[in-house]
Amino acid sequence: MAEAHQYYSIKEVFYTLQGEGLHTGRPAVFCRFSGCNFWTGLESDREKAICTFCDTDFRGTNGKNGGKYDADQLADVVNGLWPEGQSHKYVVCTGGEPLLQLDKTLIRAFHQLDFEIAVETNGSVLAPDGIDWLTVSPKSTDHFIQQKGNELKLVFPQRVLTPEMFEHLPFDHYFLQPMDGPEVKANTAAALRYCLEHPRWKLSLQTHKILGIE
Ligand code: SF4
Repeated sequence: MAEAHQYYSIKEVFYTLQGEGLHTGRPAVFCRFSGCNFWTGLESDREKAICTFCDTDFRGTNGKNGGKYDADQLADVVNGLWPEGQSHKYVVCTGGEPLLQLDKTLIRAFHQLDFEIAVETNGSVLAPDGIDWLTVSPKSTDHFIQQKGNELKLVFPQRVLTPEMFEHLPFDHYFLQPMDGPEVKANTAAALRYCLEHPRWKLSLQTHKILGIE
């Protein structure tokens, strides 16, 4: 029987280094899914969005290698960007909110081509089985249902969410990532201070921005 999502709307697919979290520096194909349930992506809607500080363009399918693909087609696009003959294949499913679309069919298609699958989610959708590395980056406690995973990455500081609200949850790693924008320097200093005072937390920098890569 056909599964719910036969076609996936993809904003862009590109090969780069993972810039954030425990796998910082690891080569990866980034697969950016279109759409998010926390913001339309329109500036005119930002004020009233659940998540107001997004720095990503996830609307539509018009980015590099973007389009509407079935599972095998998308796995082929991702695989085509991996250096030929090289192992350690790694795909990072991000967005937008990838779990609005990622399902068992696509997980199977990636695994068939030997990809390890990482997912970066806002935690508002339960993750299907089969994901190899799950990063949860909460933006709202009202919509926070995926409460376990490999790493919890909290953008810091936020208006309502604090590290104390999450540190009891079953994650292997806890990261604070300074909020980007005009206050990034002060936010980095505050995150650094917090980590030093609360050693359970590690600092995650957006190294792709520091390096000036995608
Ligand atoms: S949840 Fe993530 S993708 Fe969605 S609006 Fe917020 S930062 Fe952007």
